[in-house]
Amino acid sequence: MRATLDGFEVARARSLDDVLARFAEGGWSALAGGTDLMVTLGALALAPCRLVDVWAVPELRGITVHDDVVVLGALTTYAEVQAHPLLVAEFPMLVEAARLSGAAAIQNRGTLGGNVANASPAADSPPALLAYGAELELVSRAGRRRVPYRGFHTGYKASLRRADEIITALVLPRPRAGTAPVQHYRKVGTRKAQAIAKVGLAFAMDLRDGVVHDVRLGLSSVAATPLFAERTADCMRGRPLRAIIDEAAATLADEVTPIDDVRSTGAYRRRVAVNLLRDALEAAAAGRAPVDSL
Ligand SMILES: Cc1cc2nc3c(=O)[nH]c(=O)nc-3n(C[C@H](O)[C@H](O)[C@H](O)COP(=O)(O)OP(=O)(O)OC[C@H]3O[C@@H](n4cnc5c(N)ncnc54)[C@H](O)[C@@H]3O)c2cc1C
Repeated sequence: MRATLDGFEVARARSLDDVLARFAEGGWSALAGGTDLMVTLGALALAPCRLVDVWAVPELRGITVHDDVVVLGALTTYAEVQAHPLLVAEFPMLVEAARLSGAAAIQNRGTLGGNVANASPAADSPPALLAYGAELELVSRAGRRRVPYRGFHTGYKASLRRADEIITALVLPRPRAGTAPVQHYRKVGTRKAQAIAKVGLAFAMDLRDGVVHDVRLGLSSVAATPLFAERTADCMRGRPLRAIIDEAAATLADEVTPIDDVRSTGAYRRRVAVNLLRDALEAAAAGRAPVDSL
């Protein structure tokens, strides 16, 4: 337990310009919902630093629906994701990831921007964001850029975000009319709620006449960063689903690189990732829902 906050400085921003001015000075980080930062602070693992509280910055809020994309402000909370009818209809993997993240207090305060910026390989929204082909909007005083979320994490807790940039929004391409892929997010943890993922799988498949037209797989806790399992998806595309289940499972077993840690062994995580995929494929082939895995 930390008894004093000597050496810490916290400023409250009211606008994006306020934030960018601080970030341009150097040495400032964002404090959004605080649900990761406060845990690190309480565990004495946060060195004295300068935090700019962005909770009241209007430019980081809101969910805007366009014809081709949905733009989610970085401060969008898990509760807001679950309450949004269009997200429920079009982005069920993200909604399920939000539902399985923490409990009510975390869901009211934890943000998508914080989840991505915190860069935990065990986080729940990244697998869905990868499977949906999300982009991130990054802004600094030097300008605004959009980067594909896939490739954003360059290593454990490392990313393409420069220190003077804030994540302002997440951009999700809307599904094309007439496509209704099978999609779901499954998480295996130690218990039903308030559990960090031992493995999470976001699974989206466009199956046409029994042939895999397209498939996208995002996984958590099986590599140093959230994983877009490209090799596994590649081995399935254009092939009859029933014929490729064993090969897909073997390819995923080879593609993941999980580690041993306090929550699981690497061998267990590999087995669980493969089991989640196998069940998702068998369920899709049989036209049933996958097992409720958490
Ligand atoms: C009890 C508990 C349960 C939890 N359960 C889950 C769970 O099931 N699944 C899960 O994925 N996570 C879980 N978390 C982790 C946490 O809630 C999420 O990662 C949350 O989304 C973090 O968002 P935040 O706004 O609170 O981030 P903060 O704590 O405010 O910030 C986290 C990091 O991101 C940076 N940051 C925040 N916003 C931005 C931005 N817009 N641009 C640039 N940098 C930014 C901050 O500087 C900081 O380094 C849990 C946490 C707790 C305490």
